[in-house]
Amino acid sequence: MNSTFNPPKRVLMGPGPSDVHPNVLKAMSAPLIGHLDPQFIQLMDEVKVMVQDTFRTTNELTFVVSAPGSAGMETCLVNLLEPGDECIICINGVFGSRMVTIAERCGATVHAIHTVWGEVTSIAQVKEVLAVCPNPKLLAIVHAETSTGVLQPLQEISDIIHDAGGLLVVDAVTSWCGVPLEVDQWGIDAIYSGTQKNLSAPPGLSPVSFSPRAVAVLENRKTVVQSWFLDLNLVKNYWAGTKRAYHHTAPISSIYALHEALCLVKAEGLENRWERHQAVHLYLQVALENLGFSYLVQPQYRLPNLNAVKLPKLVTDEAQLRSQLLQNYNIEVGGGLGDFEGKIWRIGLMGESCTRLHVNQLIGALQKILY
Ligand SMILES: *Cc1c(COP(=O)(O)O)cnc(C)c1O
Repeated sequence: MNSTFNPPKRVLMGPGPSDVHPNVLKAMSAPLIGHLDPQFIQLMDEVKVMVQDTFRTTNELTFVVSAPGSAGMETCLVNLLEPGDECIICINGVFGSRMVTIAERCGATVHAIHTVWGEVTSIAQVKEVLAVCPNPKLLAIVHAETSTGVLQPLQEISDIIHDAGGLLVVDAVTSWCGVPLEVDQWGIDAIYSGTQKNLSAPPGLSPVSFSPRAVAVLENRKTVVQSWFLDLNLVKNYWAGTKRAYHHTAPISSIYALHEALCLVKAEGLENRWERHQAVHLYLQVALENLGFSYLVQPQYRLPNLNAVKLPKLVTDEAQLRSQLLQNYNIEVGGGLGDFEGKIWRIGLMGESCTRLHVNQLIGALQKILY
């Protein structure tokens, strides 16, 4: 007979999930109520308002997809793209490539902008592609590239794509609740995030928001959305209005956790939270550089939540060092992806995992192993 699973107590300092606050875990153990219970609907409404606040938007079409960040990505693209549309997608890491795959499956023609991993997409590159594709339906870009530790400036790109009559679609999975993000002020038309990074809730949900401009595009579609589950024409009636239409059964316990995690953000203050991530990132940076690690990304584009670092020369086998950290110290850090496999580490400072205590634990363990 199988016995109960007792997970080890880890310190999560990788690319997500991050450590979860005990109150959030406790929220998940509360009794279930029906997903159309008036009290649950009230809870959904509160979640919606807190998602709007943290996205800094008044977008009416703001809700949570009952699936992880990748489903939020797919929600934005399948609802806005139709066969024959042209779009621009910026690729400077793993997640841009994933957007291309989804857009192509929607039947869209993709004009990809390839940037060296570890660098940002430039205005010049966007203008170059617009010369070839002057009327794109949208431009999609990753705000915080978790595979490379790059934070992409968005304001100027937003102006350019709007001048060309297109929508701006943004992946904010690793920026939401961790660095400044201004949906309305920056003119973002469709945005998606995830719960397991800077929010520090369990994985499995994806907050999404559409601007009125994006809603107009959705309403003027000529074809039906190819995905039934992610079709916003259907989902939106589940997250708004006085009478809720059954669409699917919401992951009730996960919504409890999301609500609790958002309450913690509110208590801390969103801007204080951004500042905490920046301050702890600088604290980690000094300690890592003292140990011989060096940053991949130029200082002005560094993402505080995901520290992409090259290893000290004396480390010949990074995978073995990571495994020692996990086995002997219970600390998880991320390895490199793609071209960076075996070459860099990705050290997450996200939400509950973004404290000086976490940094001290990691640095102390590394000192013990290396010296
Ligand atoms: C983690 C991540 C995703 C995917 O989220 P999942 O919850 O794993 O599906 C997408 N984009 C970025 C930038 C991410 O960091």
